[in-house]
Amino acid sequence: MSHFDLHSHTTCSDGKLSPQELINLALENNITDLAITDHDTVAAHRQLENVKDLGLNLISGVEFSGQWAKIGIHIVGLNIDINSEVILKAEAHQNKIRLERLERIAYKLEKRGFSNILEGALEEAGGNQVGRPHIARYMLKEGMVRSISSAFDKYLGAGKVGDVSSLWPDIEDTVEWINQAGGIAVIAHPGRYKMTRSKRIRLIQDFKDCGGSALEVCTGNQPNGMAEDLANICEQYDLMASVGSDFHSPSYQWVKLGRYPRLPKKCRPVWEAF
Ligand code: AMP
Ligand code: MN
Ligand code: MN
Ligand code: MN
Repeated sequence: MSHFDLHSHTTCSDGKLSPQELINLALENNITDLAITDHDTVAAHRQLENVKDLGLNLISGVEFSGQWAKIGIHIVGLNIDINSEVILKAEAHQNKIRLERLERIAYKLEKRGFSNILEGALEEAGGNQVGRPHIARYMLKEGMVRSISSAFDKYLGAGKVGDVSSLWPDIEDTVEWINQAGGIAVIAHPGRYKMTRSKRIRLIQDFKDCGGSALEVCTGNQPNGMAEDLANICEQYDLMASVGSDFHSPSYQWVKLGRYPRLPKKCRPVWEAF
C-alpha cells in the first residue's frame, strides 16, 4: 500500500536530519512516496540526485515563502523540475531576501539589547538556507531565551519584531515559478495562518485565480475538523488535496514523519496529477 508524505524538511533548511537520514527514517516508517520540501531551496534534491536506489519514490519539492495581504504564506511546489532555469532564479532570489531579512531582524533585535544575531544565526545555519529557527537556536544557545518556542512567542513569531514578511514575493509569483517548473502549487498548512475563515477563503480564491492547484488538506498536528473543512473548500473551488507531516525533527513531539489526519474520501489526491 502507498504511504505518502509530501511535506518534509532537512538540514538544507531548518530540519534536523540530513537528506539521507530523512530517507532512512522514511523507509523505517514505511513511506513509499516522499517529497522533501525545504524552505526556498532544492539543495537536498541535488544531493540525492545521483543516488541510484533510494528505496522509495522521491518527489522533488520546495516550500516557497511568499506574502498575501501582508501575511507570510507558504506555497509548496511538488514534482518540479529542480534543474529548470526558473527554479535556479527563484532560489537565488529567495536566498537574497533571506539574507536581507536576517539583517533587518538582527537590527531590530539589536535595538532590544541582543547582540551578534546576524553572525550567530549564519553560524547556526552553517551555509544552508538561513531562517528564523536559526536565530531562535542562537538565542537559546546564548541564554537570551529559555526555549525555541519562547523565542518565537516573544520575538520571532507572527506579529512580533522578527516577523518581517514584507520582503517576500507575492504568492502569485511563487505559483508562477512552480507552474513554469512543471510542478503543482499547493497552499501549505492552510489552517495555520492567523486569519478568519472568510479571509482564508479569500486567500484560497486568489491562489486559485493565479494558477494554484491544491490545498494541503492534511498536515501534522492539525486541529480536529480542519481536514473536513478544507476538503469542502477544495470541492467548492475545484482544487486538489495534498497530505504531508511538515516534519522537521525526530525530537518534535507533535509532528512525526508520515503522520497526519486521514484524507477525507471526497478529495482528489494531488498525486493523481504527478
Ligand atoms: P522562516 O522560514 O525563516 O520564516 O521560519 C519559519 C519556520 O520557523 C517554520 O517553517 C517553522 O519551522 C519554524 N517556526 C515557526 N513558528 C514556530 C514556533 N512557534 N516554534 C518553533 N518553530 C517555529
Ligand atoms: Mn520550517
Ligand atoms: Mn510552512
Ligand atoms: Mn514546512
